[in-house]
Amino acid sequence: MPPSATTGLRNAVRDLLPMGVRRWLRRARTATHEAQSRIEHQRLALRAARAAWLPLARPGEQPFRCNLCGAHGSAAPARLGDREAATCEVCGSSLRHRALIAALQLRLCGEVRPLRTLARDRRIVGLGMSDVHVYAQWLQRKFAYDNTFFHKAPRLDIQDPGREFLGRHDFVICSDVLEHVAPPVATAFRNLHGLLKPGGMLAFTVPYAREGETCEHFPELHAFRIEGEGPGRRLLNTTRDGRRQAFGDLRFHGGDGDTLEMRIFALPGLLRLLAAAGFRDLRVTPSQGTHFFQNLTSFNVGYFTVNPDLGEGFVDWDWLAAQPAVREAGCVRHLRFEGPLVVTMDGQRGEGVILKP
Ligand SMILES: [Zn+2]
Repeated sequence: MPPSATTGLRNAVRDLLPMGVRRWLRRARTATHEAQSRIEHQRLALRAARAAWLPLARPGEQPFRCNLCGAHGSAAPARLGDREAATCEVCGSSLRHRALIAALQLRLCGEVRPLRTLARDRRIVGLGMSDVHVYAQWLQRKFAYDNTFFHKAPRLDIQDPGREFLGRHDFVICSDVLEHVAPPVATAFRNLHGLLKPGGMLAFTVPYAREGETCEHFPELHAFRIEGEGPGRRLLNTTRDGRRQAFGDLRFHGGDGDTLEMRIFALPGLLRLLAAAGFRDLRVTPSQGTHFFQNLTSFNVGYFTVNPDLGEGFVDWDWLAAQPAVREAGCVRHLRFEGPLVVTMDGQRGEGVILKP
């Protein structure tokens, strides 16, 4: 029997039951689900605690420590640089998940450490928007954090959030959501700001182009529906002034419900939207594309990733800026020194240093 027929039959049987029995069944189902998720979480915590004592770096791979579960792991640089690859073998987190949570931790606790080891603080109020289980499960245990969804309860539509959500959060996480909300996207940015307490923090990701302008796929979207199946799906729109439009070549991203790509952001436009919505103190952490890492590793090039915000190294910019340049062109300053620079790198431990001449 196809799943829809099974569901239909189940719903029909359920409708025949008295209200009290239905309520009892619903409660029993929720309790079973919660117990299962608790057991699963304990199992994960155990595996993570074990892996935390077993630093492992396979040859040719780059070691890292997962700041969600605390496990040590390693992965080929190209895979580690892939924002979506599930590189933590214990909890399945990706670079995007870990970077997002690292930004949050730096703001909340001033350091990046496994979420597992954070002290529980229920005074910190957080909100997620379709956050994945891989980090939502830790946030739920550590903070007064609620995960919300567009398509199911607890519901939150960022284009029109209920008053009960406004002005009460220390942090809001919005990861790869705003490329899917209907235009005008500026409203969503303003509402994100509205969810926060004064001084609250937004941890935010979207795929974006570094240059150019944000490209809205359906700028006049008003009353619309999606028709058809598979690659032949079309979006039919009636604009505010009554014109009909049809769009093919729709791009859907993985996830619950309709995750239609509405736009491709570009960095300059994104920064303008964030600033216009009232956000200050912006920190942009670009995830290098996999091609960058593939090129570097295939040519056996050593490279440094310096990220002072994550406590990973520093660059003496003042000293560099004070050195005379041989040539300057746009974004490039070419320096030449009398003596050699000593560059030392330990690829196994992911550590290195460049000494001034
Ligand atoms: Zn992990």
